[in-house]
Parts: sequence; C-alpha cells; structure tokens
Amino acid sequence: MRASLLLVDDRPENLLALEAILEPLGLTLVSVTSGTEALKELLLGDFAAILMDVQMPGIDGFELAELIKQRERSAHIPIIFVTAISKEEQHVFRGYDVGAVDYIFKPIDPEILRSKVSVFVDLWEKNRQLAEQAAELHRRELSELQQESEERYRALADAMPQIVWTSNTDGETTYFNEQWFVYTGMARSQSGPTVWTQYVHSDDLPRVLAHREATLPTGATFEVEYRLRAADGSWRWHLGRAVPIRREQGGIAFWVGTATDIHDRKVIEDQRSFMISAGDELSRTLDYRTSLVNIAQLAANEIADWCSVHIVENDGTIREIALAHRDPAMITFARELRDRYPPDPDSPTGAPAVIRRGEPELVPEIPPELLREAAIDDLHYELIEQLGLSSYMCVPLQGRDSVLGAITFVSASPGVQFDADDLKVASELARRAAMAVENARLYRQTEERAQAARVLASIGDGVLLVDRGGVIRLWNAAAERITGLAETDVLGTRLEDVLPNWSAGTTPMEIHGHELWLAVSEVRTEDGTVYAFRDLTQERALESLRQDLVATVSHELRTPLAAIYGAALTLRREDIELEEPLRGKLLEVISEESGRLSEIVNDLLLASQLDTGKLQANVEACDPVEIARLELDAARTHVPANVELSLDAAEGLPAVAADAGQLRQVLSNLIDNAIKYSPQGGRVAIALEPRDRYVRFSIRDSGLGVPREEQSRIFEKFYRLDPDMKQGIGGTGLGLYICRELVRRVEGRIWVESNPGGGSTFVVEIPRDANHVSNGSRSGDRAAARA
Ligand code: ADP
Repeated sequence: MRASLLLVDDRPENLLALEAILEPLGLTLVSVTSGTEALKELLLGDFAAILMDVQMPGIDGFELAELIKQRERSAHIPIIFVTAISKEEQHVFRGYDVGAVDYIFKPIDPEILRSKVSVFVDLWEKNRQLAEQAAELHRRELSELQQESEERYRALADAMPQIVWTSNTDGETTYFNEQWFVYTGMARSQSGPTVWTQYVHSDDLPRVLAHREATLPTGATFEVEYRLRAADGSWRWHLGRAVPIRREQGGIAFWVGTATDIHDRKVIEDQRSFMISAGDELSRTLDYRTSLVNIAQLAANEIADWCSVHIVENDGTIREIALAHRDPAMITFARELRDRYPPDPDSPTGAPAVIRRGEPELVPEIPPELLREAAIDDLHYELIEQLGLSSYMCVPLQGRDSVLGAITFVSASPGVQFDADDLKVASELARRAAMAVENARLYRQTEERAQAARVLASIGDGVLLVDRGGVIRLWNAAAERITGLAETDVLGTRLEDVLPNWSAGTTPMEIHGHELWLAVSEVRTEDGTVYAFRDLTQERALESLRQDLVATVSHELRTPLAAIYGAALTLRREDIELEEPLRGKLLEVISEESGRLSEIVNDLLLASQLDTGKLQANVEACDPVEIARLELDAARTHVPANVELSLDAAEGLPAVAADAGQLRQVLSNLIDNAIKYSPQGGRVAIALEPRDRYVRFSIRDSGLGVPREEQSRIFEKFYRLDPDMKQGIGGTGLGLYICRELVRRVEGRIWVESNPGGGSTFVVEIPRDANHVSNGSRSGDRAAARA
C-alpha cells in the first residue's frame, strides 16, 4: 500500500508546484483547494501527512488543523504548514498549538520539503507495519486459541456417553466421537462421509434420510428416532438430533449431531402401546379366539418375531389357535415343518409343558445345542436353523381354577433377547388374555343358562326347582300363573312353607283359599329336585260336570222313560179291561213323554254340535216380530192356564241378521223357561225394541228369579240352580247354554236381569240386518270362521 499525502492550498498553481516537488517520492498525492474539501478527503482516506497552506479563504489553516485534531480518525496525522508570510513567532506558536508538527516557509526548498515529508511517510510506513504485525499476531493467537478450543471440544465430545458427530453442509460426516466407535464397533479407519447409513436399521433408514434431506438446506433442527446397530449386532433405539452451527454472517458452517440411546424408554413405550392395543382387542369382543389371533399378530409385529397361542379345549386337548409372524411365507414354512415333524406333546419344554406346570418358561438365548437336541434328524435341524430362533418365552394363561392355555413368544432377530422385563410384559398380557377367555366362557355359560331359563319361562307347564335344602331356586312364569304365587315371593323360601302338602302325583292343593288340582311329576338331580306340574282344575271341573251330566241326564231321561214304560205296561195288561178314555190317556202319556225324550236328545245333540263347531248358521235378514209371534203361538199350545202370554213390539222394527231357525230356538227356550220357572203362574211378557245397532228381545216373567251371584253361571253347560229338583221342575241345564252359543254366533248378546218385584228378565240383542248387509264380505268371513 502506497502512502498518501493530502495537499491543501487555495491556489491551484501552488498545488501544482507542490506536486512537482513531491512527485519523485512516489506517493499518492491528493490535492484540494479548500478546508471543507480537505475534511471530506480525510473522512475517506488515510494519509501519511497533510501539507497545508495557512492563509485560505473560508476555513483557514489553523482552524482546519484544529478540526482535524479534534477528530479521532484524523487526530494522529502529522500536519505541515506551508506559509510565506507568517514568519512571526506568534504564528509559528499558534501552528504548534493546534497540532502542527512542522513549518515550511516559502520559497520552498524542494530538498527540505521532500526530506521532511519523507520522515513522516517513513513514520507512517512503520506505524502501518506495526499495526499489520499486531493484527497478524492477534490472528495467530486467535487461531491457536481456536484450535485449542476445538481440541477441548472434541475431548469433551469423546468423553460423552452419547454418540456425537459433525457433518458438513452436504450432510457428509466429518467427525465421529469415541462413543460412536465403541457402540458400533466400527474401526476408525473405516470412517467415511456416509458410513453411518450402514448402522441404521433398514426399516428406519428411509425415514432418517428423508428427514436429513429436509433439514440440511433449511437448517431446521433435525430430530428423529431410529435403531442403531451395536457392535454385538443388536439394535437399540436412538434419538438422533442435529443442529446447524452458523457463521457470523448467518450461513451454516457445519452440523453437530448427537444420538442418544432411548432404547429402554422406547421399549417401555412400545410395550405400553402394545398392552393398550392388546387390551382394546380383548375388550372389543367376546369372541376370544379371534381376539387371541389378532393379539398374536400384534405381538409378532411389535414385541417378538413369532407368537403362538394354545388353548385347552373342553375335552382337555391342547390346540394351537394362533400362529403369527410378520411374513405369511414364514408361517407356511413353520406349518409345513411342523406337519413333517409333529411336536412331542410330552416334551419337557414348550406350550404343553407350560400348561401342565402352570409356570412360565424363559430362554433368553437359545443355545444351538438345544436346537440340535430338539431336532429329530439332520434335515430337521437344518430347517429349524433357517428360522434363526434366538430367544424364547412362554407364559401360561392362568384361569381361576385351571390353566386355560399358553402364549409363546420367539425372537428370530439376532441380538434381541427376552429378559425378565419382557417376561413381565408377557405375563401381564397372559393375565389379561386369561381373564378375557374366562369372561367369554362364563358369558357363554350364562347365556346358555339364560336361554334355558327363557325356555323354562315360556313353557306352559309349571316348573320349580328345589335345592337339596328344600329351598325354592326356580319358579317359572307358568308356576306363577297356575298357583297365583309370584316368583319374587317364593324364591329363597322353603317349598314346604309355601305349599305344605306338595307331593308328586295328582293331588288337590289349597292355595290362597282356592282348591287346585295339580298333576305333579318330579326329577331328582344332584342339585335338588325339579318339579313340573300341570293344572288339572279345569279338567277336574269338566270331569265333575260330566258326572253331573250323567246324573241329571239319566234322571231326566229316566222320568219320561218310566212314564212311557208304565203306560205301555198298563196297556199291555190282559187281566184288566181298559176303558177307552184311560187307553187314550195312556197313549197320550207315551206320545208326550216320547216328545220330551226326543227334545232332551235334540238338546244334547245341539250342544255337542255347538261344542265341536259343527253347527252352521245361515245368517240372513229376518223379521224379528214375525219370529217372536211364531214362537209365542207355539208356546200357547202348551201354556198352563195360570200363565198369561203377551207380546209388545215397537213400530217399524228393522230386520235382524240371524239364522231364523236358530233365533226361534233361542226364543222358544227362553219362553219355555219363563213359563217353567213360574210355577205359581203369572205373566210372561215378550217385548221387542230397537237398540242402536241391535234389536232387543226381552222375556220377562214373575217366577222364581235368579239370584244375582248365579246370573252368569246359569248360562254354563248343565248348570242348574236346583240340580236336585227340589222344586220339582226338571231340566238338563243345556237350554241357556245353547241360547248363549247361538246368540254369540251371530254376534249378539244375552244376559239375565232380576225384576224388582220378583222374577227375571232374559235379554237378547241381535244385530240389525243393515249392519250385516253393509259388511257383506265380513259376514262371509264370519261364516267361514264358524264352519
Ligand atoms: P234347564 O233345562 O234346567 O231349564 P236351562 O239351561 O234352560 O236348563 O236353565 C238353567 C237354569 O237356570 C235352570 O235350571 C234354572 O235354575 C235357571 N233358570 C232358567 N230360566 C229361568 C227363569 N226364567 N227363572 C228362574 N230361573 C231360571
């Protein structure tokens, strides 16, 4: 660098002269004609000295010198005043005052000027060299320091238990710390820019590379989890992190990265997430077999290479219900292997042994001898070897009372060995699985029981179960219905307290004041006795009815028969001569009583036809008044003298929908009864009136009447108020039953009311014909139903 000289003079010719004198010195000369310009130049450049005129317009030499000395940047520059007039001491002193180092007086002696300037230039040169030397020295010191710090930093990095590396901006490794070599077992000589990729698990490498590529240009923090191969071949999870180190200007200088072993945390995390997934799987369904198949697959993917599940079936056999590996081809291979070499169920090791003993098994590292021992022949050994089995554990599925099965885990990854912690995880899984299996089985049992209970509940026979202590444990719906005793009241109580005279067979039993006939059968089981019973009360009632019938009907038949028999016998007598009127009377008895007999037989026939549904009704429009009149006229032929018959029919009665013959039979029965049960005589009044959808027939008498409590029962078959005929009025008890059935068949109604002054009124309501016609199709249905 050449030294520069600043020349300041207001007159260009003076400047030219100075330049000419100084030229031989080979300096850079900067000439300006004013103080202001000089100051400007001083801001820009560094000058070895300033040559300055004293008398200048504007800022004069002294003022300029003062300004220069005030500025830090220019304070050190020597100033030489060039002057022609100010030779007086006063001026000279002022010049020194403001910082001048010398005076040159005009006329200028070129030699003197050159030599003086040279001195300052030399001085400047020296200073510059010194400064440069100082700067160089500083630089050197700095770099030494830097080197020292880098060494220190590397020593620190080497001492760290973490893996530390640096890379350039292209991601190429420039340094590995000691731990890298210790962990990977890599020789230092193998170090290279991309050698690290050989130590990252192939499943993780694409993810790591993608991440690296994304962060390299942006300088974003790189953070990713991956497996790193250790010297012994095992894989351990690491957290990789890298941050860029930036230059002062901001650009990335290089990267510093670390890899921290997070294997234990990761494994615990994985195990936890595995457990959660397994738990979800188990709780999702009651189909534990499917759940266990899914869990085996989950385990094969996440915590082992192989996983199988064995289950003890109901008959005690052990069945493998799941075999899982990530790769289906491996499963096929393993299955084929096992088909060819079936495992020995009595082997002292393996799932059957674990199930037998109920104790887990753990072989952290499967020794080759063990495989050789297990192999049946050389080929078998070769095939097993191909599986690369390295570590094994098997845990029992411990149920409450027995071992339900076992889960087996096998690792085929070199370096992955199951340890006590893994066994703990497996045992926890087995505990949950066992619980799920047990729950599912329990549920199924309950479900089966519930189904059985539903069947029991819905059958028509009463079923009750009494345990060995005589306490009622089951009481089905039919039992409730038949006995009228609620399940909640009898469960847990003793049978003998509830039903004291309970026994098998057909027995009458009194329950809540009702007599029930029950046919009870019993089955004794280990847990107690099951009773099934059927209500025979109805059948019993029918049975007694049948007996009544025999009594009544035989009595009813016997009376006319006896009369006929007597009359006939008398007529046949030869010892006495019968007079004509008597003969006529006897013949009349025979004919009358025969008529009664045939009436009884007709009633029996009709009742049985009604019972079996064989009686057809020919429903048509009938005139109610006409039918009533016909029946009244028929009754008049045999009405006793003390009974008065009357008919009162409302005007314009509508037609009724009925079978005319059957309706006549109903009215005939009711009129006959009214006469029959009025032994004292009286009035029998028949009234017809319209009633909304019906025509009402009322047959009113003033006879014996029907007590209120018997009013519904008299319509039952064979029911008579006076079965023993104390009143001397006979009957079969079929008449009203027949009436009720015939009326029902045309959708009519019948009932009896007591008259206030004595006697009774039988009321029959028969639907109007309009109803019948307007529902023509329905009447067809009805006829069909009746048929
Ligand atoms: P029966 O052939 O005995 O008359 P019914 O079925 O016609 O049979 O009548 C059943 C019973 O109803 C009769 O035995 C009688 O006790 C009673 N009963 C029927 N009609 C009357 C009536 N009008 N007044 C009083 N009791 C009657």
